[in-house]
Amino acid sequence: MIRSIRLGRAPNCSSLGNVVNVLAWSQLAVGALWAAAESWRARRSRPEPGGGETRAIDEPPALVRTGERNGAPHEAHVQLTRACPLPCPSCHVAPATRGESVPLHEIEARFRELSAEGVFHVAIGGGEALAHPEIERVAELAHAASLSIGLTTSGRGRVEAAVGFDQVNVSLDGLGPVYERARGYDGAGDALRAIHRLAAGGVRVGVNIVLSRDTFPSLGSTVAAAVAAGARDVHLLRLKPAGRAVDEYLSRRLSAEQALAVWPRLRELVDEFVGVTFRVDCAMTPWLAAHGVDAERMRAFGWTGCHGGDALVAIDVTGRRTPCSFVNAAPSPQWVSPRLPEPCASCDYRDICRGGCHAVAQHLRGDLFAPDPECPAVMARG
Ligand code: SF4
Ligand code: SF4
Repeated sequence: MIRSIRLGRAPNCSSLGNVVNVLAWSQLAVGALWAAAESWRARRSRPEPGGGETRAIDEPPALVRTGERNGAPHEAHVQLTRACPLPCPSCHVAPATRGESVPLHEIEARFRELSAEGVFHVAIGGGEALAHPEIERVAELAHAASLSIGLTTSGRGRVEAAVGFDQVNVSLDGLGPVYERARGYDGAGDALRAIHRLAAGGVRVGVNIVLSRDTFPSLGSTVAAAVAAGARDVHLLRLKPAGRAVDEYLSRRLSAEQALAVWPRLRELVDEFVGVTFRVDCAMTPWLAAHGVDAERMRAFGWTGCHGGDALVAIDVTGRRTPCSFVNAAPSPQWVSPRLPEPCASCDYRDICRGGCHAVAQHLRGDLFAPDPECPAVMARG
């Protein structure tokens, strides 16, 4: 029996990204998807502890699960280079213009190791992946290891080198001065041109938009420009206090009012941009939970809140593993089966959300496993 279907492939962060559109689907449409999924052909499958299995599907891109637990991560966030010449103050790593890159033979070994462990998908993030000197060879190494592969880029550099990737997202936090304030340089034009070139080259292309106090008000015009350029996916990310983003985190993060406005705004955007897939990252779950979004539907579509160290693992240039790209900690059993304090322990979303973003909790409370201090339910408790 199929327990959940996770649709799509996100390029980075949040274990494939949580597709928002499905929350508005009719029960009839959900039933039709479940019936169709019985005949989807799996690229790979793996047995899970406690029974059942997880199947990776390429057409359509999806993870179909008949088991309840994860025996290993589904997805790995892999850093190939620390090189990046750009000054983005919201970057979650601390890249360097001449930062080191992982040699191709080492990338191949890491991909093979991940595949042998049961990982289905690798997502390549920053530094600027296109600055890796042999980036055009990387997709074929992933495919040879039976992994699907996504990539995030600023859009500056050799975008043609990303043509072999299964999904490419271009960072576009805003337009004109909004982009410039968010990223520290005037790059919206480059990003839009990159989207256009990738889409024209047949790549499934989307945008990553980091929500901040400054970028949220113009979200609609950012999405409109990205879609006009050829983007088919919009991935919204919560700002995380990691890397360079630590410095101005408090002044850049969404206000509490804006955080509560994310879900109503998303519903408007889904209605307005028919045919575009909207995703939110793992860390955004508390802001949807605050509106009583249908938890059963989230479970059916394999929604992942903080599944770092469980569904997700991150590997940096040195080969060091962390539960996700935004925390400086070793994977541990607490990440797989978190012991949640109140109010998370009695929250209806606890199995989905798992306490909110641990990276934010670490930064603001000095405790990785404290309830997310920016969750409306946690804030209401005081
Ligand atoms: S109370 Fe805890 S589990 Fe519930 S939504 Fe907030 S952070 Fe998530
Ligand atoms: S700590 Fe958890 S919620 Fe935050 S970014 Fe990492 S996996 Fe996502």
